[in-house]
Amino acid sequence: MNIAKDTVVAIDYTLKNSEGEVIDSSADGEPMHYLHGAKNIITGLENELEGKAVGDDLSVHVKSADGYGERIEELVQEVPKEAFGDLGDIQVGMRFQAETEQGPVPVMVTAMTDATVTVDGNHPLAGQDLHFEVSVKEVREASKEELEHGHVHGPGGHHH
Ligand code: ZN
Repeated sequence: MNIAKDTVVAIDYTLKNSEGEVIDSSADGEPMHYLHGAKNIITGLENELEGKAVGDDLSVHVKSADGYGERIEELVQEVPKEAFGDLGDIQVGMRFQAETEQGPVPVMVTAMTDATVTVDGNHPLAGQDLHFEVSVKEVREASKEELEHGHVHGPGGHHH
């Protein structure tokens, strides 16, 4: 069976950045399961997996624009510490949801002074080209329920 829209795919993968550092991988645990054609994974990778079958190995290079997008400097903001109210002990590296006019946005604290906190709403992998080594482990038809939910159920997927 070949990977096509509405199939459930299990892949082993290693993700490296342009410097060759491993950013993420499925190596320790179970393969990652995803619903193909539902934008469960980044577009650049999903496109390359189309038509592949169990046993296929791929090297996929995804430009940042097809990955997590380009960095947007406007998403980096320095805000007065008072704006955080009684959130407690704020530290560089903390992540939380910022309330914006567009709804909640995940941000990370990237710098601090005595009076201000700098938060970055870019995805940590924004602006980075991504290099994936992928092995296709399983391809099956998605169930009706999986298609309705837009994600995989059972091993490697949602349990609910
Ligand atoms: Zn579900």
